[in-house]
Amino acid sequence: MKIPGIIDAHIHFCREEPYFNHIAELAGHENSSEHLKGQYAEHNIVHAVVMGNRGLELSQHNYPDYLSYCIGLDSTCFNTGEIVQQADLVAKHLQRKNCVGIKLYPGYNHFYIYDPVLDPFYQLAMQYKKPVAVHTGLTATSQALLKYSHPMVLDEAAVRYPQVQFVMCHIGNPWLVDAVAIMDKNENVAADLSGLLEGRIANMPDFFARKRGYIDFLKLWLEYLDNYDRLLYGTDWPLANISNYIEFVAHIIPEEQHGKVFFDNANRIYGLGL
Ligand SMILES: [Zn+2]
Repeated sequence: MKIPGIIDAHIHFCREEPYFNHIAELAGHENSSEHLKGQYAEHNIVHAVVMGNRGLELSQHNYPDYLSYCIGLDSTCFNTGEIVQQADLVAKHLQRKNCVGIKLYPGYNHFYIYDPVLDPFYQLAMQYKKPVAVHTGLTATSQALLKYSHPMVLDEAAVRYPQVQFVMCHIGNPWLVDAVAIMDKNENVAADLSGLLEGRIANMPDFFARKRGYIDFLKLWLEYLDNYDRLLYGTDWPLANISNYIEFVAHIIPEEQHGKVFFDNANRIYGLGL
């Protein structure tokens, strides 16, 4: 399936890391910049947004032209006792054109995103007019705590910071109803559709048949929300197969909304200027 002009609004770009090499192989890919570039040419993917998880050092965040990034407060650097110092470094990232937002990992780092201690990050998001992306839903490790990654945490943050654009990564999966309720109420909350598939799926029609209940449920709540201006295509590469993912999102989003979900919304929300 070829969609003209796609932005992948949620990928990870960790070269030479055994874990990422392994999950790329399971998805039928190779965890390398060359392979990714080839795949992007093949599938008309013109740009992607990296969710940073390599700490805050500026030198750790050099990416090829076809990638932008959100500076990630991941578990290697997040420390509630050092937010002020960290905010200085985050500001240096946000001054870069290719740094298009901040990424928070509350489930992994055990904090509520509306905790006043995070205020310096939100002030920066407002100052630089760049969104705050938040990991929501299930987590990859059992040490994480789901009470912090439940989509409900976005409600209080969105109310406290009405000028901040939030992106609820993974649309809170599997708390899809809760995620849609938060989006319905709060106009400053968007969601990316990444992380809903993993590995490589050999036969998509068979997958659609086997997962019909889940897919119908997801479609039902997206129909209820009926707002395709705030949903972003994303894969969580290298977790999932690129071709599978395009087919999956094309299947759950009405065709007349493909332009918005596959391209326009990410371009606008992350200010990519494409
Ligand atoms: Zn991710």
